[in-house]
Amino acid sequence: LGPTITVGEILVEIMATTVGAGFLEPQSLTGPYPSGAPAIFIDQVARMGGAAGIIAAVGNDDFGRLNVDRLRQDGVDVSAIAIHEDWPTGSAFVRYRPNGARDFVFNIARSAAGQVGLTSAAEALVRRAGHVHVMGTALTIPGAREVILYAVETVQARGGSVSLDPNLRKELLTDDGALDSFNQVLATADLLLPSGEELFTAAGSTDETAAVAKLLESGIGEIVLKRGEQGASFFGLGLPRIDCAAFAVDEVDPTGAGDCFGAAYLTCRRKGMEPDAALLHANAAGARNVTRLGPMEGVSTLAELAAFIAATPRR
Ligand code: ATP
Repeated sequence: LGPTITVGEILVEIMATTVGAGFLEPQSLTGPYPSGAPAIFIDQVARMGGAAGIIAAVGNDDFGRLNVDRLRQDGVDVSAIAIHEDWPTGSAFVRYRPNGARDFVFNIARSAAGQVGLTSAAEALVRRAGHVHVMGTALTIPGAREVILYAVETVQARGGSVSLDPNLRKELLTDDGALDSFNQVLATADLLLPSGEELFTAAGSTDETAAVAKLLESGIGEIVLKRGEQGASFFGLGLPRIDCAAFAVDEVDPTGAGDCFGAAYLTCRRKGMEPDAALLHANAAGARNVTRLGPMEGVSTLAELAAFIAATPRR
């Protein structure tokens, strides 16, 4: 029906190289790496051979070029990435806690990413699209939120589909509009890709079975729950639940696993794979991504996923 598109923040990520140290004192950093959940997601779609496009904005600077060059090279339609003279490309500084949790210092809303809007190039891409993937993070940016709501409505009106990755980080929740638009997209999504607590937040229930049942009955066709190193599960209305154990890999950097996972699941489904095969490929895409430093460095082609699935034991 048309390409998979997404809307939202493109940024660079700069990470602490030692676990535990905060940003209150000088420390060693590594980066910049291309990043932004929508960018990682759409890059993974394109690497698997799916038609892919992104509506975004970057500054006229090296951080922006680093991202746009990577996306273009991997096959993403970058025609709807606006390049701003007056706003720099955003950034995220990440540090890791000893328990594996991450803390972020974001500079996104007051960067070019905060300027995402419905340009004529964006409108043209929406009119061609067959699927819209919505990122919770992007709903926290007012301009991006407007484009997302427009894209969801337009693409659904022409028979396309919508997926939603809640991914709402508390550091980014700045106003009520984010939550309202989140609920609006949730009400019409065909596929939901929550991880951990996000399922409970979306359903307003802290029991997994009840939460899943409530969301499926509300009209969401498929729910795929991400469980980090515990793998993932598929739920569909009237269909048997499918659990998929994670692949046994050494985690180097968890950032981006969920985005690669979601992109692989969606792309496999859009290519006509059944949920069990799509889930297996998605698990592989998430696992491969955590073995590389940098959020977008571990994106996979279909051939790489197939080879990885054949060669890697499960947990
Ligand atoms: P992020 O916000 O960092 O992108 P997320 O919380 O949305 O991630 P996770 O559940 O961490 O998503 O990871 C998505 C999928 O990637 C998991 O369901 C699993 O299949 C795979 N994965 C993640 N971490 C690991 C790991 N350490 N070992 C193996 N597979 C992993």
